Amino acid sequence: MQVFFLGRPIRCLTAELIPRLKVGDFGVIMISTMIEIDSGAAEIVSTLRSAGFQAYLVGGSVRDLLLGLSPDEWDIATSAKPEEVIKLFAKVVPTGIDFGTVLIVLPDGQYEVTTFRSDSRYTDGRHPESVLFTVDLKTDLARRDFTINALALDPAENKIIDLFNGQADLKRRLIKTVGDPLERFLEDGLRPVRACRLAAKLDFSVDPATLAAIPPSLETVKKVAPERFHDELVKILKTKKPSVGFELMRQTGLLKLILPELDACFGVDQPAEFHTHDVYWHSLLACDAAPADELVVRLAALLHDIGKPACKEGMTFYNHDQVGAKLAVELLRRLRFGGSEIELTSLLIAGHMFDYRPEWSDSAVRRFIRRAGGIESIGLLFALRRADAQAMKETVGTDYLNELRRRIDKIIAEENALHLKDLKINGTDVMKALGIPPGPKVGLILEQLLEKVLDDPTLNQKETLLKLAKTYG
Ligand code: ATP
Ligand code: MG
Repeated sequence: MQVFFLGRPIRCLTAELIPRLKVGDFGVIMISTMIEIDSGAAEIVSTLRSAGFQAYLVGGSVRDLLLGLSPDEWDIATSAKPEEVIKLFAKVVPTGIDFGTVLIVLPDGQYEVTTFRSDSRYTDGRHPESVLFTVDLKTDLARRDFTINALALDPAENKIIDLFNGQADLKRRLIKTVGDPLERFLEDGLRPVRACRLAAKLDFSVDPATLAAIPPSLETVKKVAPERFHDELVKILKTKKPSVGFELMRQTGLLKLILPELDACFGVDQPAEFHTHDVYWHSLLACDAAPADELVVRLAALLHDIGKPACKEGMTFYNHDQVGAKLAVELLRRLRFGGSEIELTSLLIAGHMFDYRPEWSDSAVRRFIRRAGGIESIGLLFALRRADAQAMKETVGTDYLNELRRRIDKIIAEENALHLKDLKINGTDVMKALGIPPGPKVGLILEQLLEKVLDDPTLNQKETLLKLAKTYG
């Protein structure tokens, strides 16, 4: 195989060749399938190496690169101690200096650089009692949670360092701990949740021995701070199929610990006229069906029926929307969600049972808009309702939703925009959306938007206009 060296700042690997790569065996570049290593990350590695230290790309970024995904962030591991790293770069934030992590701020992004370390005894089930810095990459890789997260990439030599068969597990699409799973989970109770989260993110399975080690680790999981659960839950909710992660959590007892309200929905029957699933599966499928880029809709879909177990009488669930909204507030507070997320999610849950009849007067529609929290949240409520319907029997139609939506849009449009000030966005919105400074361009864009709205008043909605504005940028 031909060795190809592109030179700084960007080095490339081919997605097609990667599954066949062995240590030291690096690729011919085919431009159409090349993956880029971020130039900032490559620059940091190169600076550290020029100063005589070892430096590698590690963890999630290497895993994602090898899977052909573009990493969300770039983690760099080095033999340099934090204070040595700080000296080498102009702007460094000591985010987790006690654990060896600093954040390097470059003009085009921020990068976590962590000193090679081994973690000594864990007494709180979450943080190592102390960390020992080391100059040995192997020790650092061994402390990482899963084999697929314990890969390092040497960007100068285009070489993967794979000491724990991470590449084989990537190929087999398996989440497997580095070392004995129970030992690793008892060290850090967040790891079982990370296993479920990564399975959802990558659509991987959890290795049977790793999965079997979760139930006996639950006491350690209990010691983890709710903020950490929050971060993992948000990451699950952003995946394509959150149901994968939540179902693994249910099977292993994690759900009962972290989201008992959802766990209680398992096995709760619903009327066969509308449903093919119990309340739990219906909730998971609704969550999958909700838009992945609308966190509150995903959250509301997941939790919209958590009031049902308490409200069940035969096959009716009277008031479950209001009961569920209250339960959701407690649950989301407990898991440290933000105030506005909690408010909006509970508003959506409380409103999810709305009905509509064609004979409604326009003022009934207006009152509905107001009850739903105004035009800002009505789009979210509709997204929730559509996700809810998608998780029901196919015979449950959504034509009435389309009709109500049309009437809402018409009413909104009737508040005709004839002047710039009537537009649902202003200059500040345009500047923010496009990332441009004040100036004549902002006015020109608003004029163009107004022209469009005069032609079609239904366009006068914040989200629509922001999208349009971006096409003019
Ligand atoms: P994502 O792509 O979602 O960020 P990630 O694997 O990169 O997933 P991070 O939390 O960013 O997750 O962690 C970066 C790396 O640090 C991991 O890939 C893993 O090597 C290591 N790591 C993170 N958390 C733990 C943990 N609790 N125990 C052991 N190693 C961990
Ligand atoms: Mg990461």
